[in-house]
Amino acid sequence: MKKTILQLKELITQEGKNIVITTHRGPDGDALGSSLAMYHFLIQFNHKINVITPTDYASFLHWLPDNDKVINFEDDVDLANRITKQADIIFLLDFNNISRLATYENIVKKSNATKILIDHHEDPDYNIADIIFSDPHASATAEIIYTIISQLDMTNNITKNIAECLYVGIMTDTGSFKYSSTTSNTHEIIAKLISFGADNAKIHNLVFENSSSNRIKLLGYCLNEKLLIFPKNKSAIISLTEQELNNFNFKRGDTEGIVNYALSIKDIIFATFIVEREGVVKLSLRSIGNFKVNEIAKKYFNGGGHINAAGGVSQVSVNETIKKVEKIINKYTDELNNIIK
Ligand code: 5GP
Ligand code: MN
Repeated sequence: MKKTILQLKELITQEGKNIVITTHRGPDGDALGSSLAMYHFLIQFNHKINVITPTDYASFLHWLPDNDKVINFEDDVDLANRITKQADIIFLLDFNNISRLATYENIVKKSNATKILIDHHEDPDYNIADIIFSDPHASATAEIIYTIISQLDMTNNITKNIAECLYVGIMTDTGSFKYSSTTSNTHEIIAKLISFGADNAKIHNLVFENSSSNRIKLLGYCLNEKLLIFPKNKSAIISLTEQELNNFNFKRGDTEGIVNYALSIKDIIFATFIVEREGVVKLSLRSIGNFKVNEIAKKYFNGGGHINAAGGVSQVSVNETIKKVEKIINKYTDELNNIIK
């Protein structure tokens, strides 16, 4: 870590670099919070910086400082292409595999920029970057960024904007500080972020108490009409087709967190959320204890993630995907039943 910190310090303290910061498709709170925190940190060293996301993201993140400067690759392919070609340094944040950049992948791959990966997923692909900060024990990429700034001896540079972006990253990736990834160190970092100006009550309201009525109605529909429970396998599935999304005037982010309701049922230790969007069937897998959903995601759905939170894609319809998940849980009956909530 020490050598990489020194390499990083040398790179960022040379002024006037063209820097691109990017993150995974469908950025979540950690992806966007980490990206904008990095933006606000690096801007202090007089660089030319652009944040480019592969796709758009939920509106509950739009209040983040300088969100309006973020370029959505899908909206402006030419501009993103031009900026990426000119980049001296590219930060890759919160993903472990270059395919998570979706259609932006090839442009980043072709770039000769120095690439710096900062991430907390297991098994990062070491070929995608020149400098790698990987810590699968960290609760969020935002937590690693705080640690890096602290090792750079630059916590004096943490402004209110940086503190709020990092707070969002850690808060969302820890399920508001309740997942087992939350450590005393996480809380110590959060305490520091509050002392650097992060308004915790405001941030919770802006992220969690800010839904459209359609989003809440869609949630109600999922819970009332779309919840399948398999007590024998301690599992639950919720699914939505594209048509159902359209019925509720779906906006990106509206389905985030729905899977957690399935997992919140007594005795359920494995929950799957299946959603069809733009013809692609995506899965979100969540678990309690030692049931490794990242292995399920990798083995059956060309995906990955963390032990208790992972995702992937399915090549068949929503209904066939439900059947596939049912078959999978039947294979794991013993393992699932050995886990007590
Ligand atoms: P979510 O269910 O919120 O989309 O994703 C949960 C976790 O699984 C995230 O940490 C994310 O990195 C990972 N994940 C989600 N979708 C994919 C995917 O398609 N491929 C891989 N490798 N990881 C994914
Ligand atoms: Mn993350």
